[in-house]
Amino acid sequence: MTTIGQVCERLETIAPTRLAEEWDNVGLLVGNPEQTARKLMTCLTVTPATAEEAIRESVDLIVTHHPFPFHAVKRMTVETTVGRLLWNLARHQISIYSPHTAWDSAATGINQQLATGFELDEIEPLLPSEGDPDQLGAGRVGNLAQSYTLLEVVERAKNFLKIDRVQYVGDPQQPVKRVGVACGSAGSFLPTAAAANCDLLFTGETTFHTCLEAEALGIALILSGHYASERFSLEQLAAVLAGDFPDLKVWASADEEDPLVWV
Ligand SMILES: [Zn+2]
Repeated sequence: MTTIGQVCERLETIAPTRLAEEWDNVGLLVGNPEQTARKLMTCLTVTPATAEEAIRESVDLIVTHHPFPFHAVKRMTVETTVGRLLWNLARHQISIYSPHTAWDSAATGINQQLATGFELDEIEPLLPSEGDPDQLGAGRVGNLAQSYTLLEVVERAKNFLKIDRVQYVGDPQQPVKRVGVACGSAGSFLPTAAAANCDLLFTGETTFHTCLEAEALGIALILSGHYASERFSLEQLAAVLAGDFPDLKVWASADEEDPLVWV
């Protein structure tokens, strides 16, 4: 018999919460660690669709990348989306755990997986956590085996993430060798990528003005969309947890979709 608490302990090893950003809200956010866990679902975000799937499938624990709830909750009524989802999940005794920025930065977390997906060598944190015993930190930076054109690296990103479209900033023929990666919405890493001599910064999404600034700095950007930059890692995390807890049924949400439709 596995408890929710034992799964939380394992998640703490995979994505130590000390790696989370100060503003973040990580760990067990809803639920009871002593409850037995039989079914575990990972997802990128708790939404009406993923909550409905969890309730339908009698899930005991949702591991959601994005914290839920994220902001302080003073009222839990069905009048708001957050209140309604919390109320319904709690009524069905579904616990919620979020690793968020701890998972972004973890040794086997999203950014490490992205760096490996780009086939980078000499991978290091883009923004090292000061004094971290494992020398981890936010984002990753590394070098391609040789110089490629931006367009070639775009193709590599699409293949790895299994998507048909990305956005990019830069000259399609410009050479790219040193690459920074930061999942989600990480345009704020542009100055850090510039300081690390990156030719390219990959992230999920950013603002128009960050795109202009990247162009002015001569740093290429590849934007995959927030969903594609992170969701793949929740499928990988489900596979890891399924291996760790053979008595649990573990899967990545089947009903979760990118709310943005790419045409
Ligand atoms: Zn995100």
